[in-house]
Amino acid sequence: RAKRDPSRPVMVFRPEMHVAALRQLQIEADLPQAARRGQMRLVYQPIVDLQSGVVGGYEALLRWQHPQLGTVSPGEFVPLAEELEMISDLGSFVLEEACRTFQSVSGGVTAGPDAPAAPALQVNVSTRQFLRPGFAQVVCRILDATGFPASRLHLEITESALILDLDEAARTLTELRALGVRIHIDDFGTGHSSLAFLHRFPVDGLKIDRAFIARLGEDQVSVKLVETVLLLARTLEVEVIAEGIETRMQRDHLTRMGCRWGQGYLFSRPLERADTLALLQADCGALAGPYG
Ligand code: C2E
Ligand code: MG
Ligand code: MG
Ligand code: MG
Repeated sequence: RAKRDPSRPVMVFRPEMHVAALRQLQIEADLPQAARRGQMRLVYQPIVDLQSGVVGGYEALLRWQHPQLGTVSPGEFVPLAEELEMISDLGSFVLEEACRTFQSVSGGVTAGPDAPAAPALQVNVSTRQFLRPGFAQVVCRILDATGFPASRLHLEITESALILDLDEAARTLTELRALGVRIHIDDFGTGHSSLAFLHRFPVDGLKIDRAFIARLGEDQVSVKLVETVLLLARTLEVEVIAEGIETRMQRDHLTRMGCRWGQGYLFSRPLERADTLALLQADCGALAGPYG
């Protein structure tokens, strides 16, 4: 055994480390059954027109209510689900649940030539889920099963989904576009995609990562970055959604720069299913304006 270096402090086992390790073990052990046990639910955050406040879409966000641990954040369990190769099942659950919920309200909306389009549904897709062969077929099956129109389904992928496996990404994108599903790049600006990628992989929208929005009032670099993304989007003729808008100052700044769509606590936190349904009911066929 190595002798203890007297110049270094003894590593003390703190109780909170024990708690963290136990929590991790419990999360790993329980994740596989969580959806089946009814502990997973979706909440929906409105995406609004920054000037009028009209809702153009909703982003579905997954929540895990653990009986002992309380709410476990997707930031914690989604990467784990990817590691444990459970993300495809979990992702299918999310897609089906979200499409079913939205179809239950807006399915009856008649789309006459003058009727405003019903709001879009944005669903997050993890990189592994997206790159797994057959993903587009899964989406197709869920659209068939729920009757939800493909054109209202917008999938959010991150830049890594496009970069990790170019051939599979190209194939999947082509298949999804053939279905009529739209693609948005989530957390745009934090990954490693380049102009060349955006050219090679046509997408329908970019979501500016909230880190840039948060720093809008604070540093010029963030302002320049956001301006650049807006210009890029105009050039490519794709939509832009600003994430994580918390203040009026941020909203006004974005509006002045010509950004139309945004989401964030300033407008609404993610809403429970019942509240979303109520909003959808009031909105559908009335004031909803689409994007993309
Ligand atoms: P994301 O897709 O970038 O989602 C935006 C996150 O920002 C959400 O956190 C949302 O609740 C939060 N947010 C919205 N507005 C504000 C704001 O004004 N201020 C701040 N500080 N935060 C705001 P959430 O729900 O914890 O989700 C975290 C991440 O987990 C998501 O980031 C997404 O990458 C992932 N995720 C969530 N649901 C799913 C899912 O169903 N499938 C997959 N694959 N990933 C998911
Ligand atoms: Mg997202
Ligand atoms: Mg995001
Ligand atoms: Mg994010």
